[in-house]
Amino acid sequence: MNEPVLVLNGNYEPIHVCNTKRAMGLLMAGKATVMENGRGFIHTVSRTYERPAVIRLVGVVHRPRPRVRLCKREVLRRDEYRCQYCGQESSQLTIDHVVPRYRGGEHAWENLVAACPQCNRRKGGRTLAEARMRLLHQPFEPRPTAQYLFGRYVAGNGTWARYLEGW
Ligand SMILES: [Zn+2]
Repeated sequence: MNEPVLVLNGNYEPIHVCNTKRAMGLLMAGKATVMENGRGFIHTVSRTYERPAVIRLVGVVHRPRPRVRLCKREVLRRDEYRCQYCGQESSQLTIDHVVPRYRGGEHAWENLVAACPQCNRRKGGRTLAEARMRLLHQPFEPRPTAQYLFGRYVAGNGTWARYLEGW
C-alpha cells in the first residue's frame, strides 16, 4: 500500500505524490477519481477496487506554485552530479558557496554549486577571481516543472509520463 500514486489537480496539473493507502482514502471518500490503474486490484470482503497509479481530484485545489527545496540533494541534482569547476562526476561532491559566506555570499540557489573536494579545497575561502577559477554554468533556481518535481518516479511508474508533460 506504499507505492507512489501521482495526484492530479482537478485541472490535470500534477501537484503531489501520495501512497496507495492515502489515494484509496481519497477515492472512497469521493474526492478523487482513478485516471490510471496500472497495478491490478485491491479486494475487500465486499468489493474490488482498482489499484491506482494516477488519480485526479474532483475539485481544483488552489495553492501556491511549489518551489524546489534548497538543499544539498537538490543542488547536486540541478548540477547533474558534476563538479561545477572541473566537470568531474563524483559521489563525493560537496556544496560550495561561490561568494564565501563570510564575504557576504548568500545561501541561495544563485550562490551554491556542486564542487568536488579537490576544487573546494583549492578555492578555499576565496572568490572566483581571487582563486582564478571559473564556473561551468551560472547557478540558477530550478523551475519547478512537473517533470523536475516528479520525474524521478517515472522510471518505476511509466504510466505517469504523459501526465507530467507540459506542466
Ligand atoms: Zn572539481
